[in-house]
Amino acid sequence: YIRFENIVKNFGSTQVLKNINLDIEKGQLVTLLGPSGCGKSTLLRCLAGLETVTSGKIWLDGKEITNVEPRKRDIGMVFQQYSLFPNLTVEKNVAFGLQLKKMSKNQIDTKVKEMLEIVGLGDKGKNYPSQLSGGQQQRAALARAIVTEPKVLLLDEPLSAIDALLRKSLQMEIRRIQRETDITAIFVTHDQNEAMVMSDMIHLLYDGKIEQSAEPAQMYARPATKFAASFIGSYN
Ligand code: ATP
Ligand code: MG
Repeated sequence: YIRFENIVKNFGSTQVLKNINLDIEKGQLVTLLGPSGCGKSTLLRCLAGLETVTSGKIWLDGKEITNVEPRKRDIGMVFQQYSLFPNLTVEKNVAFGLQLKKMSKNQIDTKVKEMLEIVGLGDKGKNYPSQLSGGQQQRAALARAIVTEPKVLLLDEPLSAIDALLRKSLQMEIRRIQRETDITAIFVTHDQNEAMVMSDMIHLLYDGKIEQSAEPAQMYARPATKFAASFIGSYN
């Protein structure tokens, strides 16, 4: 459904992505797992069109999108730092992307309400982002990313700024929403626990290369390399 084909990305003379080949199935939640600086965000940003690749091709739903402009790629994204508009209410934030679509005000209102219910913010629509907790802000950002029904949802360490207890419940929440909407999602984390509990597949990155791709239980039981063994085995 998503295919990265021989993706190379250089920043100046530094090669950050070193010939990445990766296939992602429709409707799955897959994790890009790896240490800081290994290239996870860069790979996501290439898929979203926020970076151009140095060479290689990216495919989505049977179409090559390597050089398609970002807003035409049909991809939603949530970042580590919540990217809500501070001067708009939660409702208006979520409605933002829908205004570009041909929908009546009534349709938009209904859709926004539905979405806020799904993420558990049914009673927060009139609040401003500053009046929400960190976890609630991330759920609002999630609602805004999903409401336009993009083909792919990219989540770049969306929970890393959130405390451990709330993070656990949000992990489950994201998983539930992903299943409910059947959206294809790529979740970036450097936390192997998070990868283990959330994903259908884990793609382990190291130094700009895919070190191993496997289902969580399989990666845990049979790490393919020394690095995989140390990274999956040690709880950092
Ligand atoms: P983290 O877990 O810390 O977010 P990451 O795996 O997301 O790390 P990237 O942000 O993809 O890592 O960065 C990969 C490498 O590319 C790093 O060495 C980084 O310094 C470098 N890099 C990223 N963006 C740029 C840029 N715009 N210009 C130059 N180098 C960059
Ligand atoms: Mg990153």
